[in-house]
Amino acid sequence: MTAVNGRVFNFSAGPAALPEVVLQQAADEMTNWRGCGAGVMELSHRSREFVSIAEQAEADLRELLGVPDNYSVLFLQGGATGQFGFVPLNLSRGFADANYVNTGQWSKKAITQASNYLNVHVAATGEESGFCHIPDESAWSVNPDAAYLHYTPNETIGGVEFGFVPDSAGLPLVADMSSTLLSRPVDVSRFGVIYAGAQKNIGPSGLTVVIVNRDLFGRAHDILPDAFNYESQDKAGSMLNTPPTYSWYIAGLVFNWLKSLGGIDAIAAINERKANKLYDVIDGSDYYSNPVKKDCRSWMNIPFICGDGSADDAFLSGATEAGLHTLKGHRSVGGMRASIYNAMPEEGVDALISYMQEFERTRT
Ligand SMILES: *Cc1c(COP(=O)(O)O)cnc(C)c1O
Repeated sequence: MTAVNGRVFNFSAGPAALPEVVLQQAADEMTNWRGCGAGVMELSHRSREFVSIAEQAEADLRELLGVPDNYSVLFLQGGATGQFGFVPLNLSRGFADANYVNTGQWSKKAITQASNYLNVHVAATGEESGFCHIPDESAWSVNPDAAYLHYTPNETIGGVEFGFVPDSAGLPLVADMSSTLLSRPVDVSRFGVIYAGAQKNIGPSGLTVVIVNRDLFGRAHDILPDAFNYESQDKAGSMLNTPPTYSWYIAGLVFNWLKSLGGIDAIAAINERKANKLYDVIDGSDYYSNPVKKDCRSWMNIPFICGDGSADDAFLSGATEAGLHTLKGHRSVGGMRASIYNAMPEEGVDALISYMQEFERTRT
């Protein structure tokens, strides 16, 4: 059971599957982009050709997400992990503290990095449930004098996702959307900063998308390298230095693909259906289980185990043989994890479900 063209269904958490039509277009254009005589990787970032690619990608992303005009959209390097440090360095001059919500492993990493630059006030934590729930917002303690409130809308490892945008008590809201940006509608105007490593749901690794309200410029520390200063990169159109040009180009093809599907509302409906199908199979069986509280379950990353966990290895090797790849859970938690980002076709989820049902039948 494999997808067409010998390609497998790839459930990798990241770098993750890309839409096949995007890869095909990139292949067609690899050596000679639209008759210009060179491939995109070989073009100067200052060339007319690349500038047109970059501007189109930004315009399409703005359209898809409805980004307000007073927000900058940046195409940077350094990954989401880089932003764990660049966020405090960009936003906290004149402040001693920042609020962080701790909902799992990525939140924790953001907190650890931010602690190098300021006092982290943990406004809420899901630790007591083993990060299987989002703490009730009414019980959060947000320090109103802090620089901002940071949270992780989708915890890629734990499979915990916010179904709401928190109230930040007037503070700039900062979100690590690495594994959820473009999967469902988001009201960008509620946020001070949104950032995402591209390799989950946007494009190839090497690119980090940052969307920032320009009102927050002027809060950067002097020690922040210019290449990661939001204001400097905004002035330079993300070309203060050489940007990740090829990743930017592929991301642009992905944005175009999303537009052709009908935009974010259309992909969100598909994503919700894909996720619900899989959760229904897990919940409807006595064999599979997912530990996350129902109203906090991710549409993008779905961890599960078989029975007591002892058949996980057999499940995974059989899945690989069936063309269902990279279902192994994160090394820190084990079990399985199906990452079903935008590019995972619904047939891939259907194939996984058929395999799960057959595996359960032979094991119980
Ligand atoms: C993958 C991921 C990261 C790390 O991204 P890098 O680009 O590898 O630094 C951070 N946060 C979340 C939520 C992620 O899913």
